[in-house]
Amino acid sequence: MGIDRFNFSSFFNNQINALIEKQNFEIDFDKTAIPIQTHSSNVKFIKKPGIYNNCDGLITSKKYNVNLIIKVADCVPVYIYDNKTQYYGLVHSGWKGTKKHIIINALDMFVNVSKSFLKNIKICIGPHIQSCCYEVDWDVAQHFSFIKKKSFKNKWLLNLEKEIKYDIINKGILLENIYTVDICTYESLDCESFRRDGENSKRMLGIIGY
Ligand SMILES: [Zn+2]
Repeated sequence: MGIDRFNFSSFFNNQINALIEKQNFEIDFDKTAIPIQTHSSNVKFIKKPGIYNNCDGLITSKKYNVNLIIKVADCVPVYIYDNKTQYYGLVHSGWKGTKKHIIINALDMFVNVSKSFLKNIKICIGPHIQSCCYEVDWDVAQHFSFIKKKSFKNKWLLNLEKEIKYDIINKGILLENIYTVDICTYESLDCESFRRDGENSKRMLGIIGY
């Protein structure tokens, strides 16, 4: 299955546009906010367009009219939306960000800044490298719960989706408000994959906005 453009908006009842697509997307910089991603657990609440240094998650509100964009190629894009408060966010969660629980920082910000009730928050865990293909060494695997040792090989398969899901369910997000996508970026040749293509890989854009 390919994803030149994959739209998750219907999961959010089409109240917000949430999608991932190849980087040839035309970016309207006048109304876009982009983080300079550093595999951190830093999340910023923003009120205007621009480039935001050293963070991997952005949160804003409908009233500020800003589109949020992150770049991914195997890492997990996580889309967050509260249709009651009309706040929304986008998080880049690779193994480093997942290990540091960036999604928890984002949800804390929804509760503290936007005064969201957790039961109103919907989350989409977008396409990423899935456990079928995400082979890691013990130095990475040791930090996680959802790992599987490969037979005859000193390697582990890491399931980032389950790690993130565990965090958000523990935090209090309702199971029926979590949506996952069955696309492995490594296997789908229509996706960009850093693991598969190395330095030749491009990035996909995760986008959320009104
Ligand atoms: Zn795979």
